[in-house]
Amino acid sequence: MTAAPHPTYEVVIGLEVHVHLRTESKLFSPAPVRYGEPPNHAVHPIDLGLPGVLPVLNRKAVELGIRAALATHCEVHARSVFARKNYFYPDLPKGYQISQYEDPLATGGWLEIDVPAASAADDAYVTRIGLTRIHIEEDAGKSIHDAAVAGADRSHVDLNRAGVPLLEIVSEPDLRSPAEAGAYLRTLQHLLRYAGVSDADMERGQFRCDANLSLRRHGATELGTRTELKNLNSFRFVEEALAAETVRQAGLLDAGRDIQQCTLSYDPERHATRVMRVKENADDYRYFPDPDLIALHVDAAEIDAVRRALPELPEQKRARWQTGYELSDYDARQLAESRALADFFEAVVAELGGGARAAKSAANWIQRDVRAALGERGVEIETTRLEASALARLIALVEGGRVTAQSARPLVAELLDHGGDPEALVRARGLEAVSDTGALEAAADAVIAAHPEVVEQVRGGEAKGLNFLMGQIMKRTQGKASPGAAREVLQRRLRGA
Ligand code: ADP
Ligand code: MG
Repeated sequence: MTAAPHPTYEVVIGLEVHVHLRTESKLFSPAPVRYGEPPNHAVHPIDLGLPGVLPVLNRKAVELGIRAALATHCEVHARSVFARKNYFYPDLPKGYQISQYEDPLATGGWLEIDVPAASAADDAYVTRIGLTRIHIEEDAGKSIHDAAVAGADRSHVDLNRAGVPLLEIVSEPDLRSPAEAGAYLRTLQHLLRYAGVSDADMERGQFRCDANLSLRRHGATELGTRTELKNLNSFRFVEEALAAETVRQAGLLDAGRDIQQCTLSYDPERHATRVMRVKENADDYRYFPDPDLIALHVDAAEIDAVRRALPELPEQKRARWQTGYELSDYDARQLAESRALADFFEAVVAELGGGARAAKSAANWIQRDVRAALGERGVEIETTRLEASALARLIALVEGGRVTAQSARPLVAELLDHGGDPEALVRARGLEAVSDTGALEAAADAVIAAHPEVVEQVRGGEAKGLNFLMGQIMKRTQGKASPGAAREVLQRRLRGA
């Protein structure tokens, strides 16, 4: 769905991501963070801002915020300040949201993203996107307008989500296409899971994105007026909405009109964006430091402790694999992208006995067959039935000459869907490699008899012809001829022995 660059305008995108932190309790109250509870069953008076309550900061949320900041190369500030963002909304009973404004937890990081090729004529590329800031805030409740739940003329309010700890992660306007925005979101989601910051499940609202987009003429240095797309609930919709908004803005600019700063929603059925409201200014919120909370202090020792406790992140994994296993940059990037896939790869390597050779085999099979099957099904490795030990045994069967690679490859998808033992599958399907000399001799003789010209060329020293004859033997044996044994038999028969 990646569009070609716009002929007249450069697309400029900046993303604001809200992510739920993996804590047991809320940011300022002891109410539990739970999903799927009955409405208003995970709420504490602090979340409601009832008179006389005082918020108490959850230090675990701070630790997870620092983890996210370190994983994205941000500077964590020794002092940050919680501020009240004042606005009225039925799902915000306090009348304000506690957030950070002028003094956020962390600023100035970056994320390296891997952008897939837009078409067969393009190349994939890697680029670095700046992060402006990461701050901590609390989530609001949820209004339920669904007529089936609330009744046609009513809305309900569920405050289970009120006070759930969030990070807001704001990017610089560095993204240059919807595809880059998609790659950024995927990379960030994987990284936050790696670092244990968040489960980042979009369907549960744990990972949400607002996308800002503006256009400017190619070569211009000043940013154009931006619009903001809200409530995009899948990566695909983010990319589609940004593509649709590019078309809308380009149409206005082409007609000589100005872009009005506004908030839009995306209608996936019409593939179009729609203006919801004209943008309010930051000062409409009348931010001020929350008088109930002291400034947040984070000392160097705490940052160090969090850094030491970080698990190995994709960058470090890639570096280790490239030196230790001599993997290509491309393979290392793809295999390290998600923690589950990285763990799977390492488990297969270990099952195969470890080392560069095992890693090369594991990487080949995962890149070529496993990832293709995952892509076709639109699933991640951890939700399939394929076990690392099963893939390793299948690879070992191929490398031991018991089954040819050609026969074994379709079994990967089968193991992915149903699990099971590769050896039993090979037997049940009758896929054992043919290394029986009599059968191979018969096949070789038949091929030699059928292609006398090629045989002449091979006897004259042309290696290409030999591969052709091998291909014919494979065809006759439905891909089951053990390549080593077949080649030997063929060469012997060509010599007339
Ligand atoms: P707000 O909180 O009012 O939405 P921010 O200054 O936090 O404003 O910016 C929000 C996002 O908008 C950031 O990701 C930023 O990179 C992006 N952004 C700012 N200006 C532009 C622009 N002209 N075009 C595209 N994105 C922009
Ligand atoms: Mg915004």
